[in-house]
Amino acid sequence: MKTCTKCGKAKLRSEFYAEPSRRDGLKSACKACIRAKRREYGQSERGRLTARNYREQNRDKLRAWNRSWKAANEEKAEKWRKDNPDAMARYRSKDRARRYGADHEPYSRAAVFERWGSCCCYCDREATTLDHVAPLGFGGHDEERNVVPACQPCNSSKGRKTLAEWVAKW
Ligand SMILES: [Zn+2]
Ligand SMILES: [Zn+2]
Repeated sequence: MKTCTKCGKAKLRSEFYAEPSRRDGLKSACKACIRAKRREYGQSERGRLTARNYREQNRDKLRAWNRSWKAANEEKAEKWRKDNPDAMARYRSKDRARRYGADHEPYSRAAVFERWGSCCCYCDREATTLDHVAPLGFGGHDEERNVVPACQPCNSSKGRKTLAEWVAKW
């Protein structure tokens, strides 16, 4: 066991990253603390700017790295995508929100289905998608209180209309 200097919790040695220059060969803060700090930095103004600068200055390097990573891991990635449909759906919805300039607040698909049931909120078919009640980019954000289960036909038909606009076209 080793005590983290950041959170003060005693944790297993496996909960610390390696740091060869230190006497015990481990970093003084635990993995969780270091990850939290990294995340915080990544979301800060400065962190974002640094990341963007880095990306811009190393575009070719990153592209080459990306390509070789993809070539080496395509199968693994494909399997991961298949095994993690929820994560993929989250990734896609985050991406979509960004394109529409809407906010994205992480939520669980499963929780939405649990709350509303698996029936489409607009008809009585089975819901297989989540619909944004207020459309993304029209005041609607990608967040739990703005999504309801919907069947594919209703979701496509409603598209980027508000509920009122959609109903008016019935
Ligand atoms: Zn810690
Ligand atoms: Zn429906």
